Amino acid sequence: MATSGNGSAAVPAEVDVAVVGAGFSGLYMLYRLRELGFSAMAFDEAGDVGGTWYWNRYPGARCDIPTTDYAYSFDPRLEKDWTWSEKYATQPEILAYLRYVAGCYDLRRDIRFGTRIAAASWDEASRRWRLRTNHGGEVSCRYYIMASGCLSLPKTTDIPGVDRYRGEVYLTGRWPHEEVDFSGKRVAVVGTGSSGIQCIPVIAREAARLTVFQRTPNFSVPAHNGLPPPDRTAQLVADRDGYREAARWSRGGMPMELTDVSGLTASEDLRRQRFEDAWQAGELFAILGVFNDQGINPVSNELVAEMIREKIREIVSDPDTAEALCPKDHPFGTKRPCLDTSYFETFNLPHVRLVDLRRTPIVAVTDAGIDTVEESLEFDVIVFATGFDAMTGPLVSVAVTGAGGLTLKDKWEHGPATYLGLMTAGFPNFFMITGPQSPSVLSNMAVSIEQHVDWVADCLQRLRTEDLDRIEPTPLAEAGWVQHSQDCADITLYPRANSWYMGANVPGKPRVFLPYIGGVDAYRRACDEVAEQDFVGFRLDGPAASRCNDGVIRRLQPDVAIVLEFMASLGLPPMETMTVADARAFAAATAATLPPGPEVGEIADAVLPGPAGDLEYRLYRPPSSGPHPLIAYFHGGGWVLGSQDSDDPFCRDLCLRTGAAVISVNYRHAPDDRFPAAADDAFAAVQWIAANAAGLGGIPGQLTVAGWSAGASLAAITCQLARDAGGPDIARQLLLTPVTDCDLGRPSYSGNGEGFVLTAALMRWFWDHYADEAERAQPMASPLRGTLAGLPPAVVVTAEFDPLRDEGEAYAEALGAAGVPVRHIRARGHVHTSLTMVDVVISGAPVRAEMAEALGSFRSAPIQI
Ligand code: NAP
Repeated sequence: MATSGNGSAAVPAEVDVAVVGAGFSGLYMLYRLRELGFSAMAFDEAGDVGGTWYWNRYPGARCDIPTTDYAYSFDPRLEKDWTWSEKYATQPEILAYLRYVAGCYDLRRDIRFGTRIAAASWDEASRRWRLRTNHGGEVSCRYYIMASGCLSLPKTTDIPGVDRYRGEVYLTGRWPHEEVDFSGKRVAVVGTGSSGIQCIPVIAREAARLTVFQRTPNFSVPAHNGLPPPDRTAQLVADRDGYREAARWSRGGMPMELTDVSGLTASEDLRRQRFEDAWQAGELFAILGVFNDQGINPVSNELVAEMIREKIREIVSDPDTAEALCPKDHPFGTKRPCLDTSYFETFNLPHVRLVDLRRTPIVAVTDAGIDTVEESLEFDVIVFATGFDAMTGPLVSVAVTGAGGLTLKDKWEHGPATYLGLMTAGFPNFFMITGPQSPSVLSNMAVSIEQHVDWVADCLQRLRTEDLDRIEPTPLAEAGWVQHSQDCADITLYPRANSWYMGANVPGKPRVFLPYIGGVDAYRRACDEVAEQDFVGFRLDGPAASRCNDGVIRRLQPDVAIVLEFMASLGLPPMETMTVADARAFAAATAATLPPGPEVGEIADAVLPGPAGDLEYRLYRPPSSGPHPLIAYFHGGGWVLGSQDSDDPFCRDLCLRTGAAVISVNYRHAPDDRFPAAADDAFAAVQWIAANAAGLGGIPGQLTVAGWSAGASLAAITCQLARDAGGPDIARQLLLTPVTDCDLGRPSYSGNGEGFVLTAALMRWFWDHYADEAERAQPMASPLRGTLAGLPPAVVVTAEFDPLRDEGEAYAEALGAAGVPVRHIRARGHVHTSLTMVDVVISGAPVRAEMAEALGSFRSAPIQI
């Protein structure tokens, strides 16, 4: 074999697989590749194995996931032979563990240390990657795997004057191997992330004076370090395989019971008790899971945040220092919280001082210390704990050039785009272990690393078995995953923080949420499904054959998917198999379990005269003083179910978003009162509301007619009847996922007819109860068949996974063709019912906001009658 030397050991000219990195992921990757009989070589700039634990040797460095879980699980022998001494092990102990693992499998033999891969380029002709090392050596490989870690490239210190300083300077992420002596010295620490918070108490024990420069206070909870947690250890001893499997299918990569306690509804006692338990547990996932809604609801989040601030105020004696240490600029958890040992207590020591850079920013580092806007401070040592160019930094720091000459850096100029965080289109045979858009840093890394390595190893094995030698994600699959990953982040509070999760800590870096927040379990399921469905979204090529099962693996909004999974888990009988009375009772009981929706100014119940007796209605008034525009609203329920109660949260939301008074009118239901009773009632109600607009607190001439589902059908029909009758004046119509036609043969009926709450079978049941076959084609039942010219401007909302999608789209299109101004909003990833699930399906909120904005945009439009 031809080789090119790198000083210490030979580098082979050709291997099947090259791996960058010899930390947790690189070591296991190498082990799996060898096991499968691939020739493989790993490269690491470091002098030995360890990755992050090789470089981060600063005092106090420890893991923040308990050692029971922060370890390999692939070989039970390792777990038998290695015993952790602490719940959160020190850096030397973790490094010793990784050295031990490398020794167990003789992995160093295939690792070249002190060797950095400087550049990599894809050669399409040979279908191989050509890598160049920092020593000028070249390696050719079929597959190129970056196992380079998420937090391995320290951020360039962006404070002016750093080069001028004449004292000792240290970077936590590149700590020297020799012990640093702080005794008797004046020490500055810049940065209060996990690294700063871990090293500050330890440095304080030695230094003569310690000054901490804090730009953003961080949430931290006590680690309560000690022996490995007895409860977890006992579970492992009793059933090791069960425990590890539970971790693999957990939300964060550790077995953990998820709570169903909401911060919004829990009693004060329960809130406090759950918080205290989490505070005492000293585990990240415990404090991140005090309430089930703290990651998505700002009010619930603030409860936890404030309880942590109370703890800080209790611990820190000086009130000004305590207040400066209290984080207030980001929701709890949206920047990674820290686990500490006596961090806040350290500020009670007489020789420790906090400089709040929000009040007195740093001007520059000088030759003798640090100048702030207020003072010049001299130091013997400055420690920068200023963080990393996280996740994408280590990947784009290598000049990776893919097919067609595009570099990874250029491709990701506006943010990373990956398929499953494993691969990226245009870069065939290039894999990332815990890449962006995979759970990685939001999870127990040990579990996520094993999952990625196993997926890649299984994939390479399958390619070999099927005589394939090239794999690349398709642009469609990648765009779908990027969207899904973004959708997951968007329903949380995470994007609100200026965190390294968002790339916000590095000047000029695109602001994009980098990891996948959908959970280790959901993520693993997606990866498994991709492989099971013949690598959906990947193009596979070999000498003899090529194939591609193109597609998007997750298209539903993540919270919609959760609702559907939950409903499926209940195993309820389909509604169309129930009696009408049971179906009504079931629908009412379900509605009663949902959150109430936002507070409005005023709610009043009353009746209005209908053609066959009084019709109940509920009036929602905005908090602002009136008069207000009016919205006459008709509830959903297939003409059979529902009342003015059933859409209550949605009506409140509509009232607040539009600033209109909403009048939600009940109408006669089938089968008791069949077609056209509901339509007659709706028209009569709108006539009455228009005639009584001023008395209702409305602005005459500012009436919108709105509805959802069958109620939207009634709204559409009412607009047609009003036009034909020469009044009343209707300014706008809002049709949310409307029934517009009796033809159940459209593609959305077959594509979305099952599994998305409203089924094709249920829709048939509704129609059968409502109208005879012969009546259904009349415009009073199927407004799509009516004349549409001269109708009021319309906002039509359709949902992607709704059987009614196509008839809603057809109505929007037909309105436009008839000259009616239309705003058609397509709710991506939504089902028929999800947009009305206020405070349950968070991803519905932006759609409702767009809906309200669209209505507003028609406000000045001329009335169309
Ligand atoms: P970090 O969380 O990004 O914290 C960096 C700190 O430096 C922040 O307080 C930041 O302030 C400050 N900073 C950055 N540039 C600054 C400047 N120019 N002037 C003043 N202050 C500046 O980095 P880290 O502490 O190294 O931690 C990174 C991640 O590594 C952690 O979140 C965690 O995931 C992992 N980690 C884990 C452990 C563990 O417990 N196992 C230990 C260390 C690290 P701003 O917030 O205002 O930007």
